[in-house]
Amino acid sequence: MRIDLHTHSTASDGTGSPAQVVAEAAAAGLDVVALTDHDTTAGWDEAARSAREHGIALVRGTEVSARAGGISIHLLCYLQDPTHPALVAELDRTRDDRVNRARRMVERLAVDFPITWQDVLDQSADAVVVGRPHIADALVARGVVPDRSAAFVDLLRSDGRYHVPHYAPDAAVAVAAIRASGGVPVFAHPGADARGRIVPDEVFDELVDAGLAGLEVLHRDHSPAQRERLGAIADRLGIFVTGSSDYHGTGKPNRLGENLTEPSVLAAIEEQGSSEVIRA
Ligand code: AMP
Ligand code: ZN
Ligand code: FE
Ligand code: FE
Repeated sequence: MRIDLHTHSTASDGTGSPAQVVAEAAAAGLDVVALTDHDTTAGWDEAARSAREHGIALVRGTEVSARAGGISIHLLCYLQDPTHPALVAELDRTRDDRVNRARRMVERLAVDFPITWQDVLDQSADAVVVGRPHIADALVARGVVPDRSAAFVDLLRSDGRYHVPHYAPDAAVAVAAIRASGGVPVFAHPGADARGRIVPDEVFDELVDAGLAGLEVLHRDHSPAQRERLGAIADRLGIFVTGSSDYHGTGKPNRLGENLTEPSVLAAIEEQGSSEVIRA
């Protein structure tokens, strides 16, 4: 069983439509794929139709933005009720402030580079969530940087001069809201220290008390040392470990299936979640 539990579509900052991502996952030989766009469930229905058509199982989810102390983190949420009011309210608020934040980042960038808000709109036409990768695409289109990765080296980095943070719920509040919605919360790439600050260990204990189910340990942004450290933390806390590609389509080097999740872990997620896994 080849199971990849973290991908993005054009509903957020991936480059393929939800149907395309699922079709590509089937073509890549995956048995199960999760669609986890940032702060939205807008791609779920299209992805479900595509999964039935291509004979691949689909886990519907969301990558929820959150904050722990002053640190921006991501929580994968699997198989929630997408209409649950507490979670929907947090996602709505986050998406709204992402627009304000992106506009402010473009204002700052426009002082030094040829970029307009319309450029970003042009790059995010199908998206219901705007993110820094769309600003990166606008900078690429203007010839400022060669690709998305280059845009993050300096201009879009989270500790850089053009960066503006966006609203996101407190991590323990978000974990509780995910559980209340019947979702299964997993801390995404918790050791991705090249992207920005990572949380101190005591945050894992607090989030497990709030209902955290697992850690995404097998992820390209984790060194072997980080994988070992995070695996030991998951063991100590009695929570499971997942692996995934964090596929974003053509804009990033991540390849579908480059990291995988154990079938027993998928079974635990399915057992705890309130929505069905779509099976063809
Ligand atoms: P945002 O949610 O708008 O703050 O943007 C975060 C997204 O930008 C992540 O989900 C990644 O897709 C992408 N990203 C963050 N850091 C990097 C990086 N160093 N290189 C490439 N992409 C990145
Ligand atoms: Zn992303
Ligand atoms: Fe993430
Ligand atoms: Fe992601």
